[in-house]
Amino acid sequence: MVLRLVGGVRTGEDSEDLRAFLRTLEGSAEVHETALLACGNHGDERPTWTYIEADPATGVARRRCLQCAANVWVLDSEGRWTFPRMWSCGTCGQSIAEVAAGLAMPDGEHVEWVVLGARCVDCGRVDGLTDMVLPGTPLREVLDAL
Ligand SMILES: [Zn+2]
Ligand SMILES: [Zn+2]
Repeated sequence: MVLRLVGGVRTGEDSEDLRAFLRTLEGSAEVHETALLACGNHGDERPTWTYIEADPATGVARRRCLQCAANVWVLDSEGRWTFPRMWSCGTCGQSIAEVAAGLAMPDGEHVEWVVLGARCVDCGRVDGLTDMVLPGTPLREVLDAL
């Protein structure tokens, strides 16, 4: 784990560090699983560079693949969409990120809480984006809807 805190800003070197960040969020529920989100439109390639719009107040998010511009609403965000601004890095202004999800599964099988975080592909800054409470939902189902 290479998370560093520089002037109040946390940075990570790679997506593993982003996942570690989600496991160590202050005041959050315990995170049991993490998943790096990727576009499924490219066969085995699964590119992770994305734009992300997220609303921390309402728990909605949508990501857009950098390569193919396909939009994916996270979970049930489409029906509750609030048109949040696109994320951009508070340090360097880059709006391309890697996005990962941290999942709380108190019973080991059902996801009850999801938190999303982003890592700037330029400077490595990591930010929390939003979080969502779910009725206990099977892990597979949640992973397919992120
Ligand atoms: Zn794509
Ligand atoms: Zn940056």
